[in-house]
Parts: sequence; C-alpha cells; structure tokens
Amino acid sequence: MGDTIYTMGVDIGSTASKGLILKDGKEIMASAVIDVGAGTSGPSRAIKEVLKKTNLTLDDIDFITATGYGRNALEEADFQMSELSCHAKGAYFLFPKVRAIIDIGGQDAKALKIGDGGVLENFVMNDKCAAGTGRFLDVIARVLEVDISQLEELDTKSTLDVTISSTCTVFAESEVISQLAQGTKIEDIVKGIHDSIASRVGSLAKRVGLKDDVVMTGGVALNKGMVRALERNTGHKIYTSEYCQLNGALGASIFAYQKVMQNKRKTKVESK
Ligand code: ADP
Repeated sequence: MGDTIYTMGVDIGSTASKGLILKDGKEIMASAVIDVGAGTSGPSRAIKEVLKKTNLTLDDIDFITATGYGRNALEEADFQMSELSCHAKGAYFLFPKVRAIIDIGGQDAKALKIGDGGVLENFVMNDKCAAGTGRFLDVIARVLEVDISQLEELDTKSTLDVTISSTCTVFAESEVISQLAQGTKIEDIVKGIHDSIASRVGSLAKRVGLKDDVVMTGGVALNKGMVRALERNTGHKIYTSEYCQLNGALGASIFAYQKVMQNKRKTKVESK
C-alpha cells in the first residue's frame, strides 16, 4: 500500500459499536455502526464491516485505537484512549471553531468544554440515571411503538406543548402511557419528551459553561428534534454532522495516526 497510512478508531459504547478508517490522518475512508455495544459481538463486527467497505485487511491498518466504555477488552487494539479526549479530537477535526460539545449516547450524557486547538478543558457527566440519555428515548419509542429514527419527523408535526414532568425513566414511561390513554397525539408526546431531555442535559451543559461553537455528538444527535430542543433550551446554535455517532471513533483514529507519526519520528532519530 506504499506510504499511505491507514488508521482505525473503534468506539465501543454501551449501546453501539463504531469503527472508522482514516487515510493519512485526513480522509474518512469508511465507517460502520453496529447496534450492539460492549460485551457483545458488536466490536468485532464493526471492525469487519468497516474493513469490508474498503479493500483493506486488518494487516493493512497501521494502528488501531480503541475508545469507549468497552475499550479495554478489544484484542485488536494497539492503544486505548478515553472517550472524552476522542470526542474533543473528533469534534475539532470536523468543526475547528468548537468550544463546547454535548454528547448524548446510549447510557450517558456529557458536556465538554474545549479550549484552543481542540484541547479538553473540563467536562460534566451524567452516567447515573437513564433520564437524559439515549436509553430514555429507546424506552419511550418502544412504548409509542415507533422506531427511534422516526422521532425526528414526529417532533416536526407537533402542534401542542405537552409537559412530561417525571424525572425518572420508569415514571416517565407511565406518564406517557397515561397521556396516550387520554388521547394525546404521539407527536406532541415526542416533542414533550425531547424538551424533558433537553432540560436535563441543558443544565448539565450550563454547568460546564457553554460557549460558541457548540457541537452535539453521540447517536442521539441523529435525532434533529432533540438537537432543536437543546437549541431552544440553551439558546445556542448547535452544529451536528453525519458523523456525530462516529465522532469518538473518528477521534480515536486521529490519535492512532498521531501515534504512527510519533513512532516514525522516533525511528528516524534512533537510526541517526
Ligand atoms: P454509546 O456510545 O453509549 O453506545 P451512541 O452514541 O452510539 O451510544 O448512541 C446510541 C443511542 O443513539 C441509542 O440509544 C439511540 O437512542 C440513539 N440512536 C441511534 N440511532 C439513531 C437514529 N437513527 N435516530 C435517532 N437516534 C438514534
């Protein structure tokens, strides 16, 4: 493959496994998302799938960095990095003006403060409670008998403000069932749920101190209804990208590229 450097980032989350291949530290060649996370076949399937989308084999990959909740269990990995650093790195690559990141994944929500050059300065996190995470949306989507990917469109159809006041996922589920029994429209419930999550995550984000540009990452950022609810709550424009769920894997593959370059420099110095 000549002098081209191929690096892979693998982000093993609680809910999904993500793989991304970067060419020469700049070009995203391929990516894959498998809807199962740590402790499952997800990580190895993500690696297989992302390789399949290129003409590469594992031997062609110069360096693999693992991140996410299940990063320490990945045998193929050459290195592990915290997902906070990877999110900062990935978002800075996509949005060089980033100053804050709101990340909502399957089982946690984080707000990151980013300094000059994409450096992580501070963060706050909720990983103690499902409310305010993707899990909350997954539970509600099941009760409403819709797919998670339909929430965005339902949100746009809402005409009535509905307040979901329960702060606990289990009670919110009962509240939604009772709203349905009273004839409240699904779209209005969906928007109410988005606003309820935005209020929880919005206060987390305010604690870290939001500054423009604000970027949202994680699988939940695929739901633009959720992005709009956070914009209403925080008063900031929120940027997202098609790679929002792959942002951690992207950051990991950039770190992998930097490792390769460092090792090359070392070898040069040693051979002098
Ligand atoms: P983790 O890294 O914790 O595994 P992710 O950042 O991959 O989590 O996000 C997973 C969450 O993203 C799911 O719980 C789900 O709520 C949400 N999600 C996944 N795909 C979609 C989609 N197509 N539309 C809206 N939300 C989605």
